[in-house]
Amino acid sequence: MPAICVNFPPLPQPEAAEMTDSLFKFMLGEGHVRGVAVRLGDAWQEMLRRRRHGSGVQELLGEMSAASALLAGSLKFDGTLILQIHGDGPLRLAVAECQPDFGLRATAKEIEESQAEEPSAGDLVGLANRHGAGRCVITLDPRQPGQQPYQGIVGLADAEGRSLHDLSAVLRQYLDQSEQIPSWLMLAADERAACGLLVQRMPGAGGTAGSDAARADEDFSRAVHLASTLQRAELLELEPQELLRRLFWEEGARVFEPLRPRFHCTCSKQRVAQMLRMLGREEVESVLAERGQVDVTCEFCGAGYAFDLVDAAQLFHAGVDQPPGPAQPQ
Ligand SMILES: [Zn+2]
Repeated sequence: MPAICVNFPPLPQPEAAEMTDSLFKFMLGEGHVRGVAVRLGDAWQEMLRRRRHGSGVQELLGEMSAASALLAGSLKFDGTLILQIHGDGPLRLAVAECQPDFGLRATAKEIEESQAEEPSAGDLVGLANRHGAGRCVITLDPRQPGQQPYQGIVGLADAEGRSLHDLSAVLRQYLDQSEQIPSWLMLAADERAACGLLVQRMPGAGGTAGSDAARADEDFSRAVHLASTLQRAELLELEPQELLRRLFWEEGARVFEPLRPRFHCTCSKQRVAQMLRMLGREEVESVLAERGQVDVTCEFCGAGYAFDLVDAAQLFHAGVDQPPGPAQPQ
């Protein structure tokens, strides 16, 4: 853990136009409760600039981006965290990815219907769980080659089969079930920012029995009680440090040095080449015959990659690999 700034040093006056990206890890009281607060300003703006979606999907993608950073911030894991919603409504797939350095990217696939009848903003059921088949998938893809990815899947309904109307509720359920860590979280996104707050009972804090465990439970429920007073508008407006100060000023909060999430797409010509190889020579050659070159656009950042006849010949020439090329933003 990086150095700690104890008990909230005075904040510099924020400038009105400032849109910062920050992620703060924190601990409360005797260390039975930990948490993460994230605010994506510029990073979220950059994602919006590159890919536009319907307003409901856009809000969900913002929440997913904030959530992927929160989850990555709460785990000791060296690799990519991928959060996906597989939907059965107008939203077919939404993806948010967080790299170990908090480089973030997100994208979504919608079907046409969403233009005709736009579902209410932020309603997960209308977007992705109309027939109860929606799923939330969280993948931890280790950076070290040879290690197996871990995947957790939860439905978009509670244990009684009632549809969950927002992503926060889905992820609370995921954390309870898959990670078995009592957790509370809240997410919010609008045109300006994508924000989130996660509060967790420290795994194994106070053991599993006795007065220490009872203290840990008590500390956690008090923290959740305080966090639950948070309004969506406050989460969107306040800098994370100010948010934590307001919510937990009586809890002896220790806030760690901020981390800086940012927009970052991991696409490259080499990765696109790999994808084209998997698509197969026949498919690639048929596109070449028709159009003279193969154009691939990154669904995350909008970067375009063109493969002409020479590039394509190299693709399927054993042992020859494309050098990585820089992404060309549109
Ligand atoms: Zn890209």
